[in-house]
Formats: sequence, structure tokens, C-alpha cells
Amino acid sequence: MDQNFLESQKQVLLKMREELRQKLKEKYAEAISFGTEDGQDSADEAYNLYNKNIMLGRVETDALKLNLVEQALKRIEEGTYGICIECGCDIEEKRLKQVPFARYCVDCKTELEKKGLIKM
Ligand SMILES: [Zn+2]
Repeated sequence: MDQNFLESQKQVLLKMREELRQKLKEKYAEAISFGTEDGQDSADEAYNLYNKNIMLGRVETDALKLNLVEQALKRIEEGTYGICIECGCDIEEKRLKQVPFARYCVDCKTELEKKGLIKM
């Protein structure tokens, strides 16, 4: 793979990691402090719990993404970045530009998603 391309992907991933880390920190703080004020009736509580779950759901998605970004950075270091971890073929640069942390080629991703094995 082109070194320049690899380097620019690395920069994108590092930036992504920083942003995700920051976002997660804020969201966790928000979700945890949410609905802990005093003087609410049970309807408020149910509503707050509902919102809290949505928020935590979003936190989970970001945490998953952060994990994928970290894995991608590791693969850059190991020299296996851009190789589909399922079938071993090269992932198209176009796809890597769209999804810098892509682990699978389009074919494998489609197949795995169909089977419900992956979400991202
Ligand atoms: Zn593949």
C-alpha cells in the first residue's frame, strides 16, 4: 500500500480517536448525571431512565467505534492495514477513505451483516 496514503489514513484515525475519546468522556458524564436531581415523580423517572438508556446506547456505539479505530491504528503499525481480516484481500482505497477503520472488504462486510455477525 502507498506510504503516503497510509500516513494520511493514520492522521485521520488519530484525529478520530481523539474526538471519540473526548465525546465519550462528555457523554458518560452526561448520562451518569442525568436524572439524578431530587424531587422528581415516577413519570419523570421513567422518562429519565428511557433517555439515559438512549444516551448510553449512543455511548456504546461510540465506544465500539473507538475500539475499531484503535484496532486500525494497530494494524497500521503491524503493516496489515487495509487487508480484509476475513478473506485476506486488499480493501479498496475508496472504501478506506470513507471508513478509515474498515476491517472487511465490501463483499465480506455485506456477507457478515447479512448473517447478523457485525454491526459496523
Ligand atoms: Zn474480505
